[in-house]
Amino acid sequence: MRGLVFDIKEFSVRDGDGIRTTVFFKGCPLRCIWCHNPEGLSPVQELYECDAGCLQCGLCRRPCDHEDCQAVGRCLHVCPKNLVRCVGRYYESEVLAKTLLRKKMFFESMGGGITLSGGEPLLQADFCVDLLKRLSGKVHVALETSGYAAEEDFLRVIRLCDFVMMDLKLMDDEAHRTYTGVSNARILHNARLLMESGVPHLFRTPLIPGITDTDENLRAIADFVGAEPIELLPYNELAPAKYPSVHRTFTHKIDTTMKNAVDLSIFQNAVLRA
Ligand code: SF4
Ligand code: SF4
Repeated sequence: MRGLVFDIKEFSVRDGDGIRTTVFFKGCPLRCIWCHNPEGLSPVQELYECDAGCLQCGLCRRPCDHEDCQAVGRCLHVCPKNLVRCVGRYYESEVLAKTLLRKKMFFESMGGGITLSGGEPLLQADFCVDLLKRLSGKVHVALETSGYAAEEDFLRVIRLCDFVMMDLKLMDDEAHRTYTGVSNARILHNARLLMESGVPHLFRTPLIPGITDTDENLRAIADFVGAEPIELLPYNELAPAKYPSVHRTFTHKIDTTMKNAVDLSIFQNAVLRA
């Protein structure tokens, strides 16, 4: 089974307990206006090019026969400044699992493990399941997900995980459609399934100034999660930086002056990430 991954980050300390290796699956069905991983949105390989320092020599635009260059329409092997690359690499699940498990002893000694993230891992549910079956029971495996997936896919993936981190962004469906591009109905349904599943989990809300961090939205999330654990994540102000490199536009300027002071007391079990 083959899947598309856009990054593998080692020594991650923000994607679950301990020191972890995070695998970023390429492709996401959402389009959150604040997304800080624009290179993870498209479910296909794409060109990543950095303009800063380009000599305008044109070498990368000349036709070539390299197999790996054909998907992006540029030669990836000639840039004297190493400014062009292909985002997204296909992995066989067996090969990826073997690679990830090389750090098993390290994870055991550091209380860490492997985290499947994205993009949205559940967009490649079959690949996720195949990979998880090769990892489960051998190493601690966590999942980071938007929760936007068919119920069947959601359940078969989370049941193979040791820990699930799932976003709850906006409780108002119209606002959810406006700012993420999809309805929240499927997400809230899966969130309830997660609560009932017995799989250890954590909900997470990104605090986007004036959008998700309003009193009204946070109170609605607090009511929904009750005593469930939830982590509130600060907005990443560097989010727009990578958009030009994958030929995307960060269309909606986030007004950081709208930042709301979060009243943690409305939650029963929340932590605010620094
Ligand atoms: S090869 Fe590199 S320096 Fe030359 S045009 Fe392409 S990106 Fe710019
Ligand atoms: S769910 Fe995550 S990866 Fe997908 S668009 Fe939203 S912030 Fe980006």
